[in-house]
Amino acid sequence: MTEDKKKKHLERLRQHQAQRSTGEDAARGGSSNSKPSAKKPASRNNNTKQNGGAKKTNRIQTNGMETHRGQAIRASRRTHEMADKLIEIHNVQEISPERRANVKPLTDKEVLRLTPLGGQDGIGEKNMQVLEYGDTAVVIDCGMDLGIDLPGVNFGIPDASYLDKIKHKLKGYIITHGHLDHIGGMPYVVPKYPAPIYGSHFTIGMVKKVMGDRERGVEVENFEPEFVEMNMDNHEKLKLGDFYVELIRMTHSIPDSSAVVIETPLGRVINSGDFRLDPEPLDHRPSDVERLKEFGKDGKTLLLMSDSTNSQKEGRTPTESTLEPSFHDIITKAEGRVFVASFSSNMNRIQMIINAAVAAGRKVAIDGRSMLSTLELAVKLGTIKVPRGTVTTLKSMPNLPDREVLVVQTGGQGELNASLQRMSVGEHQYLKLKEGDTVVISSTPIPGNNVRYDQISDDLIRLGVRLYRAPTHKVDGVGPLHVSGHASREEQLELIDYVKPKYFIPIYAGPLHRKYHMENAIYNGGFDSRNTFMLDAGETMDFVNGVAKYGPKVPVGTQLVDNTGSLVPSVVVKDRVVLAEDGVVTVIVTVDRKSGRLLTSPDIITRGFIYMRDNAELMDGIRNELKRAVNQRFKRVELDRFKQELKDHITHFLFEHTRRSPMVIPVVNAIGSNGKSQIKPKPKPDASH
Ligand SMILES: [Zn+2]
Repeated sequence: MTEDKKKKHLERLRQHQAQRSTGEDAARGGSSNSKPSAKKPASRNNNTKQNGGAKKTNRIQTNGMETHRGQAIRASRRTHEMADKLIEIHNVQEISPERRANVKPLTDKEVLRLTPLGGQDGIGEKNMQVLEYGDTAVVIDCGMDLGIDLPGVNFGIPDASYLDKIKHKLKGYIITHGHLDHIGGMPYVVPKYPAPIYGSHFTIGMVKKVMGDRERGVEVENFEPEFVEMNMDNHEKLKLGDFYVELIRMTHSIPDSSAVVIETPLGRVINSGDFRLDPEPLDHRPSDVERLKEFGKDGKTLLLMSDSTNSQKEGRTPTESTLEPSFHDIITKAEGRVFVASFSSNMNRIQMIINAAVAAGRKVAIDGRSMLSTLELAVKLGTIKVPRGTVTTLKSMPNLPDREVLVVQTGGQGELNASLQRMSVGEHQYLKLKEGDTVVISSTPIPGNNVRYDQISDDLIRLGVRLYRAPTHKVDGVGPLHVSGHASREEQLELIDYVKPKYFIPIYAGPLHRKYHMENAIYNGGFDSRNTFMLDAGETMDFVNGVAKYGPKVPVGTQLVDNTGSLVPSVVVKDRVVLAEDGVVTVIVTVDRKSGRLLTSPDIITRGFIYMRDNAELMDGIRNELKRAVNQRFKRVELDRFKQELKDHITHFLFEHTRRSPMVIPVVNAIGSNGKSQIKPKPKPDASH
């Protein structure tokens, strides 16, 4: 606040307080007609007439405020509208059992229906689809959305209430791979709509981990999920109701990723999963192109749904093997300790780093809970090979010569409290970074993480370490340090060409990336533009006699999960957004029920609004307003009405003096004349407005 503004503000406060006696006197005299003070400037008279005119005497008098009550209410409404908008972006749905799809369940055997319940609004966004026909329905993937930036919200899960309609015919969950945006919703959805879970060896391992993740706070009590592991290499086919399901090996950035092939009575449906067509992945298990090509030969592939993540990237995604020399170079040549940050589930990358460490005579420690548990799983399942004696504990690292230390860690996105971030600010329990250390960030920032990514890089440079980062590897003077796990445009076209579908629907990304994918198919792949569709979450695509058309809409949305793993109602999150914007002011008055007199001086508690000590005058002003309000109105109206008036009045008063609209919570303790306390419980925040 400038000096000038501050003076004006104080002047207004003083005038205000000078006027309050008028109001109090009026109330004591039993009349609610305020007589404007003679000292008041003319302009104030006008305002007072407007605010305190005959029509509006049935509430606490505004006593000469410059702003209108309406302005204050509108300002407060704007904050609430902003909160609503922030929540609407994610299409947040209440956790209500009443919410039901107003769609007739499919019963006839002429329609095959595809319904995305998520995954079509962005990359890494709670992927989930339903495919149904007659008495058979299957769910493909059931992920979580980690990209939700709302206060106290950890992630979102799909609103799966549509499954209520079809749970009687749900034959299974078929999972493409073990990334959280494909499996993270399962602990919430599967117990509610139980059915066996199908997936590859490593995928089932990851699903078991997520379903039993007590530390995440996920409760899957009294529920034993049924798991069915499928063999991709012998092209095992399983019958689920009227469907036959097969998994096809695809290269991605987590072991045992797969495409899903479903033979239905009305044609073959293929979901690519997340994929790329890397011919030389480190585990020597490339995408099963031969099998994919077979599906293109019989003309029975009705529909291909394919991963659109990299549809804005020209050419091909480079093969993973291009990274190997870079890691060998850095890890062998470094004189001091080496730290490599990577995605926690990218086991091929971690295998590559471990191989380079072994070649350079270094011991390896893993830092990061999710990385360690995934690595343990990968070792147990034989997906990754670690020579005996290579991996050691983080604790023992400080005892080794620098030349023998290598730490693989989480936090390659700059995530707060992940291993690398704690090291970058010197808050790591065992290891302090120092000059002579080498840090490698083996990931590029996911959209939205750029700020943190750059912040952590700055912090690392400040510590004097040698830093190599994937996006700047050329400038840093080393080879490539990261490749994407997703197909670029050429590979996307190749997949369409392999399986030769009649219809093509781009999936697993927002409209922009899906549109790029679709146009790539039409203009560069020669795909018939009439046979490719944009399909949003909640829309359905019906295939009748081999012809696709949009079907009815079903309810979709996001349910929010907090850090304890519990679902949070959107009204609570909305309150948090409002609080984050302007803070909260709680006013507490204790009143003698009989006499209507204040028994103690009113209390004011603020959080995130203003610093009380620097604003003693404003606090006094609020206190005086509270006293005046009690004197004027407490005995005249019902308690609930009084509280509402108090809330409106203090909101207006605060807006008048600060132009802010904090959430105001009035607490009125009415003490009975018999001496017993009749203190009303403090209202819940969501009930007070
Ligand atoms: Zn993935």
